Amino acid sequence: MTTLDTAADGAPAATGGAAAGGPGLAQERRLVTPIPGPRSQELLDRKAAAVAAGVGHAAPIAAVAAGGGVVVDADGNSLIDLGSGIAVTSVGNAHPKVVEAVQRQAASFTHTCFMVSPYEGYVAVAEALNRLTPGDFPKKSALFNSGAEAVENAVKIARKATGRQAVVAFDHAYHGRTNLTMALTAKSMPYKSGFGPFASEVYRAPMSYPYRDGLTGPAAAAKALSLIEKQVGADNLAAVIIEPIQGEGGFIVPAEGFLAAISEWCTANGVVLIADEVQSGFARTGAMFASEHFGLVPDLVTTAKGIAGGLPLAAVTGRAEIMDAAHVGGLGGTYGGNPIACAAALASIDAFETEGLVERAAELGEILLGRMRALQAEDPRVGDVRGLGAMVAIELVDPATHAPAPALAGAVAKRCIAQGVVVLTCGTYGNVLRFLPPLSIGDALLHEGLDVVAAALAAEAAA
Ligand SMILES: *Cc1c(COP(=O)(O)O)cnc(C)c1O
Repeated sequence: MTTLDTAADGAPAATGGAAAGGPGLAQERRLVTPIPGPRSQELLDRKAAAVAAGVGHAAPIAAVAAGGGVVVDADGNSLIDLGSGIAVTSVGNAHPKVVEAVQRQAASFTHTCFMVSPYEGYVAVAEALNRLTPGDFPKKSALFNSGAEAVENAVKIARKATGRQAVVAFDHAYHGRTNLTMALTAKSMPYKSGFGPFASEVYRAPMSYPYRDGLTGPAAAAKALSLIEKQVGADNLAAVIIEPIQGEGGFIVPAEGFLAAISEWCTANGVVLIADEVQSGFARTGAMFASEHFGLVPDLVTTAKGIAGGLPLAAVTGRAEIMDAAHVGGLGGTYGGNPIACAAALASIDAFETEGLVERAAELGEILLGRMRALQAEDPRVGDVRGLGAMVAIELVDPATHAPAPALAGAVAKRCIAQGVVVLTCGTYGNVLRFLPPLSIGDALLHEGLDVVAAALAAEAAA
């Protein structure tokens, strides 16, 4: 893996304008001003004046270039990237294959609308998704622009295929910010509060959460399925939607046997099982899809985020007979499967398959889990360490009561960013620090980033 471990150095620091990014950027943490520096602050002031307040930001910087494992800001600071723009730039920012494919496609044509004049890139992405997603039955795909749009369409398809209306989602679930996906998402603040009324016929079941429910997978599934049978009824239920590893909800990995039991019940009752792999898909967890870790073969899979190296693209893929249930003209959208996004997806999929990125995610996971378990051993505020591959999180708690410690998580993340490491929080209780490095990060840089996390946690104890 030397090409990934030792990114080329010597590239000049970007200091504004159209800076060259990609793996050629100097792979270093470099602070030349406080965060935010004056140029970043200037942009943040313009943002505050021009951009709706509801659109927040985690790192107070003005990004001008990114690649390998770093994000460079307008002041010349180089920050270690442990977020990948929320699990999107898994192949690495400005990956050379993606850049080349995007440039070539943009010069050829930028849009025809696939529903007006179809083109090959869209079909090739569908073929790749049909091949790569779990299950060796005939599959079909449809392409969209965002994860939320993919989830909305998966539900539409499941309803049409079953002739039923109800949908079950789980505690701690995150499925997006559009109206139906807000209804599916569990957490009120900030995702739903004040934005109702929400779509109807959405029901919530308890999720397996080993750290907090203490249940085995089968016991947690029995609890969920009993609730579904009593409060919804299988005859009314079109789909069960679940993230095989929950993302925004706190990187919750269900106990062994939970997903299998839910899946079996869905099959027995004619309910479409939708795996939302928007965050966990595309090599992120050390498998092409997280479902594979659990032997889960969903009927439909939703994908987005890591699919296209940063370009907006999303998909629903699944059993051909279910996907074909919607009538002609019932699915689509003006931009869905944009040719430039498809070119980027094909280049990204090529990178995942030929550059050993699935294996690299597993290696990064060993580093992440090893470091975080060592931290947990010496700091009881690290209540839980969980995740798979390059999707790892720590849950911070009060050592005495295990009550969530969101203020601590927020303070540690803030301190990390000030020290040049982009770390994101998540979790229903806001007390989870999550690590989602680009798979193009080198070992040394990852270790340095985690050193900063450990120091920030220690500093918060002293504070
Ligand atoms: C991010 C996310 C979504 C929504 O994707 P957008 O592209 O932001 O609409 C849906 N499901 C999961 C699991 C996600 O992580």
